[in-house]
Amino acid sequence: MNQKRPRIGVMGGTFDPIHNGHLVAASEVADAFQLDEVIFVPTGVPWHKKAVSSAEHRYLMTVIATAANPSFTVSRVDVDRPGVTYTIDTLEEVAKTYPNADLFFISGADAIAQILVWKDIEKIWPLATFVAVSRPGHVLELPDTEQAAIEVLEVPALAISSTAVRARVTAGKPIWYLVPDGVVQYIAKHELYGADN
Ligand code: NAP
Repeated sequence: MNQKRPRIGVMGGTFDPIHNGHLVAASEVADAFQLDEVIFVPTGVPWHKKAVSSAEHRYLMTVIATAANPSFTVSRVDVDRPGVTYTIDTLEEVAKTYPNADLFFISGADAIAQILVWKDIEKIWPLATFVAVSRPGHVLELPDTEQAAIEVLEVPALAISSTAVRARVTAGKPIWYLVPDGVVQYIAKHELYGADN
């Protein structure tokens, strides 16, 4: 019997914090590429920077934000793997769980624009199609390569950014409707980003 191969999105990001732009982006990519499921994968230790919050806080906020959508799940693979997070390890682990699936690695355009310097890039190409989601008006310079499938999707809701959300919290400004309600409450409860209750 010829069964259809599952099409799985792997949404990689630091998610510090996850915001509605990320959720709209995942939903738009799922629609455009006819994905069966999107797995959100918060990074453990990001490769090039220090996350402001712990991996556990970022993982839990991602779970809260995605809980209502039956097509969204969250994976701990990067949070639980010791050391710096490399996408080669993320994709190899997801591929083990879904050996017969077509994988679509989704991330921010600025992150994917740097892909040529990622660890083991030659091994990464065959594992997934790469989907770079960009902010409106963002001019994207993608690497010049014929080895990879890189798709670009502009997502207006990505006018929201994690940096701006953190800055608003620190300044005591509201973040309602920029992030899911449960994430607003989680940030306040745990006093993340200098939140003052
Ligand atoms: P980043 O440098 O923090 O983000 C770059 C830009 O992309 C920011 O504007 C960010 O906006 C946006 N962005 C990040 N993830 C996004 C997502 N899933 N959807 C929409 N926009 C997103 O990038 P990062 O979060 O550290 O890394 C992104 C992914 O690339 C992670 O899975 C990471 O592990 C992977 N990566 C791998 C390597 C490697 O293997 N060597 C190197 C770098 C990154 P927000 O701040 O609003 O999210």
